[in-house]
Amino acid sequence: MSETDRYKCPSCGGTMEFNPKAQNLKCPFCDVEMALEEYKSMAEQKAANNVDIQAGAKKMEADPEAGENAPAKYVCNTCGGEISPSFVSASTKCPFCDAPVVLTDKIKDQQVPDLLIPFKFEKKDVKETYVKFVSKMKFVPASFKSSAHIDAIEATYVPFWLYSCKTDAKLTIEGEIITKSTFGDTQKIKHDVYSLYREAQLDFKDVPADGSKDMDDDLMDSLEPFKMDEARPYDSMYLSGFGAQLFDVSAEDNTERVRERMRNTVVQAVMKTLSDYENKSVKESEYRFTENSIKYALFPVWIQKTSWNNEEYVFAMNGQTGKFVGRVPVDKMKVTISWFVSTLITTIIGGFLYQAVEKDVGTGQAFMIAFIACAVVCGIVHAIIVAGNNNVASADMAMEYGGELIPGDSSDAFVRTYTETRSRK
Ligand SMILES: [Zn+2]
Ligand SMILES: [Zn+2]
Repeated sequence: MSETDRYKCPSCGGTMEFNPKAQNLKCPFCDVEMALEEYKSMAEQKAANNVDIQAGAKKMEADPEAGENAPAKYVCNTCGGEISPSFVSASTKCPFCDAPVVLTDKIKDQQVPDLLIPFKFEKKDVKETYVKFVSKMKFVPASFKSSAHIDAIEATYVPFWLYSCKTDAKLTIEGEIITKSTFGDTQKIKHDVYSLYREAQLDFKDVPADGSKDMDDDLMDSLEPFKMDEARPYDSMYLSGFGAQLFDVSAEDNTERVRERMRNTVVQAVMKTLSDYENKSVKESEYRFTENSIKYALFPVWIQKTSWNNEEYVFAMNGQTGKFVGRVPVDKMKVTISWFVSTLITTIIGGFLYQAVEKDVGTGQAFMIAFIACAVVCGIVHAIIVAGNNNVASADMAMEYGGELIPGDSSDAFVRTYTETRSRK
């Protein structure tokens, strides 16, 4: 029995790789292409004749000195080189001959994924997307603008847990009905405070959370959505030529992260139904989760970690949709110069305008006030621009995975009234 898989080319003996463009297997040496089903039936036929064409590498005897916890090593069947994958690596390439090896034994030993979304983009697509992504950012250091910056970006199937769960909520929300009336110069604002009790149910399907310690949660959240209609039943053939990881965060360990998103989503959906009320806030809440299923999936991710000025920057692209995420550094010198120039220009204009309006203000004083105001405003504007160089954020909602809100028992109880009086002068 083979311990790992490779997909030997029937015409030249090279190893075929999954081809994201045609969604088939392709030999990088002789360009032969085969549909996955076609390859599978050919391999089965050969296996029936006792020809195993799929053994990619042999697991080595464990080194007694390395200790029990050392990751297993393999010998490449193509070149005889030694392959030492990390603990979580489930698919790799031989470092000597570059032959793809799918570590099927490790996947089987841990847990076979239920489904997988195949890669649809090649490295050149990722580079093009990166250049477009960076071109929209401001004050980017020159070295980051070229696609050469992401030469080392790698394609990896990342383990994800998908939670389908019915969420029942019992919420007590305080809300106000506000009526305004005007008498001469005074405005009266009447607040009628209500206690609103709402029961509601929302059914969620396949809310994802990554199961990898190595992958930053916020970064993985930012790659959503993955389109589940293109998910396929798991098959190791998709992994040939790509990296893949085993999970090292369990489905249970991620549950709270996902439930928080479901809770927030139900609250927002209920709040939407209370459009007659203002100043709404949740006073009491109770949730019940009924899990329908937890699926284990592999999602396609392009990822590169890079360091610049002693800080780590990570870029990632959704391998299915092409959504590119990351934080691009800013050249502090460029930001300072831009802030200084914009402050200078606005101070000159502002100073003259100020003098024109307030004739009794001295020139020195007018320009000093204009300078302080312009420096602060330009500072805020630049801070906003710099913050825009980062599109990584944790997901706290799961709206796109939820169905229709099903309302249950409800009651609206009047609590109290208070009135504000405002002078309109
Ligand atoms: Zn070939
Ligand atoms: Zn090799």
